[in-house]
Amino acid sequence: MAPLYDAHQHFHFDQLTPYRAKIDADLRAFGLRRAVVNGTSEEEWPVVSALAREYPWILPSYGVHPWDCGNRGPGWEAALRVRLAAEPGAGVGEIGLDRWIIDGLRPDDPRLAGLRVAPLDEQKDVLARQLALAAEFDRAASIHCVQAFGALLDVLKQARLPARGFLLHGYGGPVEMVKAFNDLGAHYSYNIELLQPRLAGRVESFQAVPADRLLVETDAPTKPPPVDRARFTLPPAADGSPVNHPGNIAVAYDALAELRGVALEDLAEKVEQNFWRLFQDS
Ligand SMILES: [Zn+2]
Repeated sequence: MAPLYDAHQHFHFDQLTPYRAKIDADLRAFGLRRAVVNGTSEEEWPVVSALAREYPWILPSYGVHPWDCGNRGPGWEAALRVRLAAEPGAGVGEIGLDRWIIDGLRPDDPRLAGLRVAPLDEQKDVLARQLALAAEFDRAASIHCVQAFGALLDVLKQARLPARGFLLHGYGGPVEMVKAFNDLGAHYSYNIELLQPRLAGRVESFQAVPADRLLVETDAPTKPPPVDRARFTLPPAADGSPVNHPGNIAVAYDALAELRGVALEDLAEKVEQNFWRLFQDS
């Protein structure tokens, strides 16, 4: 069978730090070929870069995530340019738009501690600038979007886009918009979250995505599979939240093949082609 590829995760996040050696051994044992590890703020970029030098399966990606947009430093854009120039295989991401952080969370939510929440116009500007860098360096852009798909389409229509395309990771937008995103070069990665009954609506868009635009992701350390399906488990984080082992990419492939009604081997072969059309090796 074709090797497996994780199109979106965060190996560098604190929840995984104590288990890096075990995760690395597990991933090598079952033949993961590459995982795109997304740094989401300037502080994270050097950490991801160092990990990519240590672990050959990591394909690094650098960006300012919408959650980190409000706290970015004045030199962020120049710093991103320098990093992309220095690392020819690196992607641009995780970047995007998030309206939920603006009006969907209670102000005392612990996830907002220390964050200045950037208004949507500011998020759009920072996204467009990062897309322009991705276009200039011809790197895949990995995009996060929550409750802002209309705004995302507007930005994508006006921005310079990378010729190789961009990734809508964990796509949760309406099925009706898939065609418009396809025309602009969208690829889509889905994770095990699709199995949740509350996200049944997402399965429709998943099934509408063309086979040559489909990728698979874990989004680890978040989004662990249901306990009865998990192939790898890790202890919960200090705050009690569950931690997803990146090896559960194999579970995501299984579940997505089932939901698409295709053989696992066929999905794996297609995803391998799609992965290398979108991403490039360093
Ligand atoms: Zn992510």
